[in-house]
Amino acid sequence: QTSNATFPPVLDANEQILIDSFDNTSISTWSYYYTHGDHIAGRNKTIAQWTADKWTEYGFTSRLDEYYVFLNYPVSNSLVLTYPNGSTYKPTLREAVLAEDDTTSYPNSIPSFHGYSFTGNASAEYVYVGRGQQVDFARLVALGVKLEGKIALAKYGGPFRGLKVKNAQDYGMIGAVIFTDPGDDGNVTEVKGFAAYPNGPARNPSTIQRGSVEFLSVYPGDPTTPGYASKPDSPRADHGKVTPKIPSLPISWAEAQPLLQALNGHGPSNASVNRTGWTGAISGVTYSAGPSSNATLFLSNVMNDTYSTIWDAIGVINGTSQDEVVIVGNHRDAWIIGGAADPNSGSAVLIELAKAFSKLAETGWKPVRTIVLASWDAEEYGLVGSTEWVEEHIPWLKNAAVSYLNIDVAVSGPIPAISATPDLHAISTALLKKIVYPYRNSTTSTLYDVWEHEDGKVGVLGSGSDYTAFLHRGIASIDVGAEGGPNDAVYPYHSNYDSYHWMATYGDKGFLTHKAIGQYFTLLLYHFVNDATVPLEPAGYVPELHKYLTALNATVSASNYTIDLSPLTKAISTFDSFVHDFEALRSQALKSNDTALLTVQNHKARDFSRGFASQGGLPTREFFQHTIFAPGRDTGYAPVTFPGVTESITFDKNATLAQEWVGKTAKAILVAASILKT
Ligand code: GLU
Ligand code: CA
Ligand code: ZN
Ligand code: ZN
Repeated sequence: QTSNATFPPVLDANEQILIDSFDNTSISTWSYYYTHGDHIAGRNKTIAQWTADKWTEYGFTSRLDEYYVFLNYPVSNSLVLTYPNGSTYKPTLREAVLAEDDTTSYPNSIPSFHGYSFTGNASAEYVYVGRGQQVDFARLVALGVKLEGKIALAKYGGPFRGLKVKNAQDYGMIGAVIFTDPGDDGNVTEVKGFAAYPNGPARNPSTIQRGSVEFLSVYPGDPTTPGYASKPDSPRADHGKVTPKIPSLPISWAEAQPLLQALNGHGPSNASVNRTGWTGAISGVTYSAGPSSNATLFLSNVMNDTYSTIWDAIGVINGTSQDEVVIVGNHRDAWIIGGAADPNSGSAVLIELAKAFSKLAETGWKPVRTIVLASWDAEEYGLVGSTEWVEEHIPWLKNAAVSYLNIDVAVSGPIPAISATPDLHAISTALLKKIVYPYRNSTTSTLYDVWEHEDGKVGVLGSGSDYTAFLHRGIASIDVGAEGGPNDAVYPYHSNYDSYHWMATYGDKGFLTHKAIGQYFTLLLYHFVNDATVPLEPAGYVPELHKYLTALNATVSASNYTIDLSPLTKAISTFDSFVHDFEALRSQALKSNDTALLTVQNHKARDFSRGFASQGGLPTREFFQHTIFAPGRDTGYAPVTFPGVTESITFDKNATLAQEWVGKTAKAILVAASILKT
């Protein structure tokens, strides 16, 4: 691919109106509003109503959709390390309170905790388990480390945190402490001479990552209503399938240091278990697994388990066509008062987007397709607001949803990042070239130039944000944002330091990345709801399916199994040929100005990916239906392609199941192909 030839990019009149309406100063105003209040799920109704009112002001018909869901809130927690000689160390489990973060008017009063964590005490020796993937635990067992009855000390990064706790629980451990390691902070560390926040871009040593410990790869959403919407009178399932039965706590690197140091020289050292980034960068720590006899932890976690009302703000502009809808979502809840990156960079962008569409509407413009804006609640606990909403509206969505466009962390640094279903690759890449981006004061670059320069590729969707429920019902989806590279300021994810001050000083000085990403996201929505031809390209699946098949071939070869992949090869080739037929008909419709035929083709583009969804779901997890990609069962965030086949090999070690899933996956591809054809 080559960069755009013309600079500045050529825009049509409507695009120009949308682009010109964007103003970094007003985005920073929305950001300031959103970063100064309690955001925790079920406690943010004022912010939900403000959002709905703003959208109403900009011409949307707005409302709050309520669900009644299982949540829990922190009451108290503590951790004590007792050394073999009987002396103790008691971490504060608190972040340093900084004047810069406006904590004088908004006290740093929400304790750090894990959402959906278990109420209980644990007192035992402890073992450092690396990133806490299954491979780490299996290796420790193989090396003779006894895990049962011990507490796990795990490092953040890699798999979703809830899976670290799940794995510890499955290996018979009785508690988990998860720490942030500066070894994951790229080049901007105190070790390399950068000052820590608030004085510089490195991580403040007291930073604590909060977050959910729901067992996300089983199913997301309200743990008590798998597969259906949570209403006050809904029947309730036991939440224990997806919530831990052992207590856990998050901790900073500064306070994890003594815990790790007490294990120095005990048990296997880093070299023998170096599988998934075992060794970190905390000074004076050898990352020995332990245990150290008589070095024990006492962990106490008290949560208030309860049901709460949550609020999804919804704003609608009806299109002229009734059965085509584009949903645009961002979550609103955060663990903290600030949340300038997560989620409020996205929330601020959505307000500015609504404003831009109101400017366009002043010209008399109307969308062809219906726009639904969504501000989800309770994403942080486990994608709850979006999943319940999808579960409530699924019949309508299956008929009418053209795409789901997600923006969560719109900005945590300067480099654009996109993940999408392959039918969105063409449009999402093309539009990057239309956005002027003053990256490092450049006067001649677009978002595309920066993206391409940083080796940008459209990623595969795994999970970790609100596109999940849409994607796994076969709805084309995209997740848009910008993030830091190894030389950019360290993003204090899920910590009090993800504040307005951090954003305005280090994350996005001048809010120019907010502006560019917002303009991009707005053009994306505009083309989806405006263009005569739905901008989905089923052909985008062809090269991707080939890539995934090559990877699967390698997985099969590396295993000892004989698995016949030819049904997949054949299905992909049928899909390829039907895509050509689809494209031929679509061009014909355009050439002959045959609007009826074009509508039929648009509906095929909308519907074909429903075929990829398998009704019964993937092995052991009914919720996850997409047969082409899914979050890994032991990654939670990172995707696995052809998950039914791949994980039957790598996870279940079951060749029969793998062969069965070759058949099911091939069939799903053929169903998608047939929707394009008929
Ligand atoms: N985005 C949140 C996190 O990573 C929630 C993810 C989830 O529960 O799916 O913690
Ligand atoms: Ca549910
Ligand atoms: Zn988020
Ligand atoms: Zn988050």
